[in-house]
Amino acid sequence: MEKLAIDGGYPVRSGKIYYGRQWIDEDDIQAVTEVLRSSFITCGPKVDEMERTLEEYTGASYAVAVSNGTAALHCACIAAGIGPGDEVITTPLTFAASANCVLYCGAVPVFADINPETYNIDPDSIRVHITEKTKAVIAVDFTGQAVQHKEIRAICEEFHLIFIEDAAHAIATKYDGKQVGSLADLTTFSFHPVKTITGGEGGAVLTNSEEFYQKLTLARTHGITHEESMMVNPDREGPWCYEQITLGYNYRITDFQAALIVSQMKKLDNFAARRKEIAKRYDEAFSEIPELMLQKGIPESDTCRHLYIIRLRLDKLKCSRREFFDAMGEENVQCQIHYIPVYWFPYYRRLGYEKGLCPNAEEVYRGIMSIPIYPAMSDQDVTDVIHAVRKVVENYRK
Ligand SMILES: *Cc1c(COP(=O)(O)O)cnc(C)c1O
Repeated sequence: MEKLAIDGGYPVRSGKIYYGRQWIDEDDIQAVTEVLRSSFITCGPKVDEMERTLEEYTGASYAVAVSNGTAALHCACIAAGIGPGDEVITTPLTFAASANCVLYCGAVPVFADINPETYNIDPDSIRVHITEKTKAVIAVDFTGQAVQHKEIRAICEEFHLIFIEDAAHAIATKYDGKQVGSLADLTTFSFHPVKTITGGEGGAVLTNSEEFYQKLTLARTHGITHEESMMVNPDREGPWCYEQITLGYNYRITDFQAALIVSQMKKLDNFAARRKEIAKRYDEAFSEIPELMLQKGIPESDTCRHLYIIRLRLDKLKCSRREFFDAMGEENVQCQIHYIPVYWFPYYRRLGYEKGLCPNAEEVYRGIMSIPIYPAMSDQDVTDVIHAVRKVVENYRK
């Protein structure tokens, strides 16, 4: 057996590899610098182009570009009319933003449990948590795997709920052959550097509803409209006229970020293909290791993997997750944990949420670890990660 680096042995590789990173080419840099040399650096033609590109790619009728994925979620909640007195059902196994956006609107996030095999929100648990006050569901395509659209859609129709999909992980994923972005009532993307394509920062909301689209554009820009048809007093004093007709925010994205996102969109299918290749190699290598459990796929989801998660069977290992994580780090494979259940955070605890609320999510959380997956990984990098996982498992096997 190979001696672990953490015990004084040689690491599987010399340079550190991280769980995710962006891919920026010369043409991406050129796209950004072109905008910087032009007359519009914000709210110009590149934002329009980004929106049209996203509409074309996803098949959604409308895309609204915003400053980041969190702003996208906030705008989606505003468009859905979420406010004080409402409850919104979401998952605890996500980044805090998926629930914070509900609090921004003065409403109450309610956590439904996950399916312990797919790690996505469990439609049966959504059902259990519906009350008179439930207004919407925010379902997260965790790791990039699409949520159970058919089941969630049926629930939303039965109880007149709005279906919001946090697809920060899932651009390029298809459900039943249709692109994520075209399916839910409102879908949000993030273009943070760890996500599948990036603008440095950036986000978007997609919808097929013209009514939601109008509300999204108002939420993005202070509640201000320049369109006569939307004005309360359209008898314009002059061409400078605009009206603030609701309360909105400044969630604009710059033209140079939009240019970067448009440029990255051209590579998206290649990125997705590479991510799938890497995930397949991991699946093949790890399915033979009895100390690991892998995320179960649903047949409807053609998944572009944003994260690859191994789940440790701690009953079969002599180490804790922390020891496994540290040992991987010493092998120069820097893992990450996605995510601490949202309601465990002190802020949520102060709001009255208690540990034990979602037993499946808590149990899954205790064993999971995200290993590196991003398109710039070489085949050797993938081999190194597999080697490190095998090596650590062998050393800690009971
Ligand atoms: C990244 C992420 C967000 C927030 O996106 P930002 O662009 O960082 O604001 C929201 N939800 C999920 C699931 C995410 O992974």
